[in-house]
Amino acid sequence: MGSVQIVTTILAFAITAVAVWLAARAVMKMVAVIRLGQPDPTRFGDKGTRTKTMLAETAGHTRMLRWSVVGAAHWFVMVGFIVLSLLVLEAYFEVVSPTGGLPLVGSWALYGLVTEWLAILGIVSILVLIAIRLRNRPTRPGGKSRFTGSTMWQGYFVEGIILAVLIMGFVIRGFKVATDHFEYPVWAAPLSHAVGGLLPNWEAGVSVAALIKIAISMTWLIVIALNVTMGVAWHRFLAFFNIFFKRDPGADVSGLGALRPMTSQGEPLDFEEADPEKDQFGVAQVEQFTWKGLLDFSTCTECGRCQSQCPAWNTGKPLSPKLLVLSLRDHAYAKAPYLLAGGGKDLTGEEKATAAQLAHVDVLALAEGEKPLIGTAEEGGVIDPDVLWSCTTCGACVEQCPVDIEHVDHIVDMRRYQVLIESSFPSEAGVMLRNLENKGNPWGAPQNTREDWTKGLDFEVPRVGEVDDFEYLFWVGCAGAFEDRAKKTTRAVATLLNEAGVKFAILGEGETCSGDPARRIGNEFVFQMLAQQNVETLNEAFEGREKSKRKIVATCPHCFNTLGNEYGQLGGEFEVVHHTQLLAHLVATGKLTPVQPVDGGVTYHDPCYLGRHNRVFAPPREVLGSAIAGEAGKGDGGLIEMPRNSERSFCCGAGGARMWMEEKIGKRINVDRVEEAMSTGARTVAVGCPFCSTMLNDGVNGKEAGDQVEVVDVASVLLRSVKPEQAPGDTERAPVAG
Ligand code: SF4
Ligand code: SF4
Repeated sequence: MGSVQIVTTILAFAITAVAVWLAARAVMKMVAVIRLGQPDPTRFGDKGTRTKTMLAETAGHTRMLRWSVVGAAHWFVMVGFIVLSLLVLEAYFEVVSPTGGLPLVGSWALYGLVTEWLAILGIVSILVLIAIRLRNRPTRPGGKSRFTGSTMWQGYFVEGIILAVLIMGFVIRGFKVATDHFEYPVWAAPLSHAVGGLLPNWEAGVSVAALIKIAISMTWLIVIALNVTMGVAWHRFLAFFNIFFKRDPGADVSGLGALRPMTSQGEPLDFEEADPEKDQFGVAQVEQFTWKGLLDFSTCTECGRCQSQCPAWNTGKPLSPKLLVLSLRDHAYAKAPYLLAGGGKDLTGEEKATAAQLAHVDVLALAEGEKPLIGTAEEGGVIDPDVLWSCTTCGACVEQCPVDIEHVDHIVDMRRYQVLIESSFPSEAGVMLRNLENKGNPWGAPQNTREDWTKGLDFEVPRVGEVDDFEYLFWVGCAGAFEDRAKKTTRAVATLLNEAGVKFAILGEGETCSGDPARRIGNEFVFQMLAQQNVETLNEAFEGREKSKRKIVATCPHCFNTLGNEYGQLGGEFEVVHHTQLLAHLVATGKLTPVQPVDGGVTYHDPCYLGRHNRVFAPPREVLGSAIAGEAGKGDGGLIEMPRNSERSFCCGAGGARMWMEEKIGKRINVDRVEEAMSTGARTVAVGCPFCSTMLNDGVNGKEAGDQVEVVDVASVLLRSVKPEQAPGDTERAPVAG
């Protein structure tokens, strides 16, 4: 070993020792913070599916590739990082000896070839990612950036380090070529040979370059070890765990559909026995999230995909799902020293730690411990109430998140505490909650008017109990029973089912609100009260039937979601379909035949709780396609898609009980969506949800565009095509054309 190698070896191992020690300390700190969370025993089942999903999402980048260019570039960078780790390991042999290399594989030409090309593609990909970050930088003129609020230096730092380490790999190889110590032929390592042609024949060059490469890599490790909230770097290690422990490992997207039940100490809360002084009601302190919640916050990469799709953020509200996650993460880590010393408030608000325990805790951590989780800036709150109440629970953030963070569950958990313990929520929603408790529907309509929509139909609508041989129980929903526009959809669906010869029956006055608005606003108590009542009624209606024959058809995606995905949590197992699914089936099997083409152009607005939350994208489009084509395909063309459709559809603004809250900040979400719908030039905007119908109709009326565009349910569009002579009575206006 020459004198240069002695120096390079000592320096390389010294900096590595410091970096590894700091990194080990950081990992222990992170684990300690995550362990502060509440238990969640549901995250450990079905390890086979969890492993498969984790491997598919990481190795296959299945979620990242939805953003194709970024996804592909990120895949190469990820693979480059793994290869890079091997090459960094190799550098430890090279600081010792200029002819050094990895034992065993280091001399294989195949290893040289694979690492050469992955490093080349890694460089190209990292340049692409840097260019994308620069092009989307928050300070660029005009337009919104998904990186607004992200810690930009961290992103550039991580990308710069990767680029520098990859380049140093070629410099090391180049020196080996120049000094004639390179093992691989030109065909296996063309770039290395080209670089070698430019470098001097300097024997020590390999070891010096290897030292620089190690120093750069260890600088990265030291920086991230000193910044445990640097998600853009730490997600490389944490994403595997976050994906493995996701809520629904077998589902297309985890954290959508059903909400996580309200739990205390990891057990679902039963309101008949729950005691707010002993049981946790929602989340009032950051440590009351489960450990998986804290892992979620730690894993955020700050990529801002969630933010770019969030309807609240895009219309000028203060809510960004990314900034919400980052605030919770920063708060958790800043408060951690106080909590780890034994601090924290018990359920009655009393301090748990003694003065002696807190004597050595940093004052900043103590101050952080005093911050209310929900509170205005003046109150020093971590999350502003306007942020919390702006969420429509549309799920766009969850859908987009490449590391499977479950934003909606966390938001609703915080709402639960605010509603159940603090009674603090937008006051206008109080009327809705009172109506749910007293009248069983959000409008406060008399229960004995639930069947009024049946009046004037030219056939009898049977009730459960009057008939036993029904195939489908038609769940009408509160909007479908009481809201004038939605009643037309209900009538259209009943008419079509009758026309197709489907045996169905309604509960009539036996039906009550599914509980969706109560659950999404955070009032789990009212939700459970309504849901238990409905589960009892439905179990009675289906008595003696196996699950596959307990079929329900619902026109409201919120009811569809709640009955199908959430009633199971309360002992109600049913086969629930949305009316567009059943109608698509009836058209496909020839039981309904569209004859009159619906002209003038049709676009379709995906309801969040039908599409994103439940993956029903095709059936409404199939129904509309058949209605547009009419008999023998005479229609004037296919469906005109809006730019934001299907998984990336834009919310109407009504979900998450926002339907019953005033929208005081920013642009109205429904107006934004209506403008997008109108930009397609379609005369008909088809919807599949009574709330979307209300919101989009209001948007059209607000723009005084009623003469240009009509918002109407998919069922009514189909009815116009199947029974044109009957349609005007079932919809607001006469058919647009035809
Ligand atoms: S659920 Fe929708 S509104 Fe709520 S934070 Fe996510 S994207 Fe925004
Ligand atoms: S999409 Fe996920 S990882 Fe990206 S910023 Fe949002 S929460 Fe963080």
